[in-house]
Amino acid sequence: MILVTGGAGYIGSHNVIALLNAGYDVVIFDNLELGHIETVNTLKNIVSKGKVIDFIKGDLQNLSDIESVFEKYQIDAVVHFAAYSQVAESVKNPQKYYFNNVYGTMNLLCAMLKNDVKRIVFSSTAATYGEPDYVPIDENHPQKPINTYGKTKLMIENIMDDYDKAYGLRSVRLRYFNVAGADSQNRVGEWHEPETHLIPNILKSTFSGGKTFQMFGTDYPTKDGTCVRDYINIEDLANAHVLALKYLEHGGSTNYFNLGTNEGNSVKEVFVSCENVTGKNITLEEKPRREGDPATLIADNKKAKTDLGWVPEKSLNESIKTAYDWECKLTENIKLGV
Ligand code: UDP
Repeated sequence: MILVTGGAGYIGSHNVIALLNAGYDVVIFDNLELGHIETVNTLKNIVSKGKVIDFIKGDLQNLSDIESVFEKYQIDAVVHFAAYSQVAESVKNPQKYYFNNVYGTMNLLCAMLKNDVKRIVFSSTAATYGEPDYVPIDENHPQKPINTYGKTKLMIENIMDDYDKAYGLRSVRLRYFNVAGADSQNRVGEWHEPETHLIPNILKSTFSGGKTFQMFGTDYPTKDGTCVRDYINIEDLANAHVLALKYLEHGGSTNYFNLGTNEGNSVKEVFVSCENVTGKNITLEEKPRREGDPATLIADNKKAKTDLGWVPEKSLNESIKTAYDWECKLTENIKLGV
């Protein structure tokens, strides 16, 4: 049985499906503050290879909540997503982030050690690198996070190194670049309230009553003046977690990998792709730069390809298409009050 913390959220839910398809039984642990019970119910209805999905509502900040999961289930390994992840909020309210992300993870690791569970795949981020010294960013790039969110993730990576040395707890840390898209069968997708990410915000603006899309910053030193990011498809990303789990199962040592495509797209390019995929002329408002946005973030993904055998396959257009299908479903359900 694999424990997935934060399995009711965007990245976690797609990973639950990938784990199920790979033949694992899964127990989801989520406090449903940002995750959705509707997502859990959808996941529980997925039948794949006779595998089981269970759900426990609980909070990592309560040690007893997470300990009870290990008492109830025979956990073999953990995939850990549960975290706050909004950069601006993390700077305004660092206490919230240190308690939830760092202290919460320490409770999880405590419960793991107590129950002799020694493998974890951890959701880390390109934000641990901070302002890049060079791009594409490889895993040897210095980690100098410039916001509290990135700092919490780096602290956890460091804690995991110490726990490996002292207790033999092995980890794989996956450093995500910009995650995009939704389940290709449109069962789950990105569902944040409020939404801050580029692709869902462009797509949401196409629905009646949606806010006009705001483009933050058109004077960056990039090809067209807008920020360049590396958009990695959510299903490709989820597959990397399954490979990381297998890597640990086969005795792989503690490691860390970038998850990205090795390619960058500007905000303007993403915007045009959204117009093409939706077939709509989308209105936009040019705004000043958003604080803390580096001009360019692109992953060097060679290490994950070589060491994990990971092959990201899906294009930006495929991510936008699935994200759009999901936005249509979400908007329809909200309208219907489902
Ligand atoms: N962005 C934008 N309008 C939005 C949301 C994002 O122009 O409504 C820009 C943002 O300034 C950044 C890029 O899109 O340059 C990607 O932002 P996102 O929040 O999706 O991901 P991040 O790179 O911050 O993790």
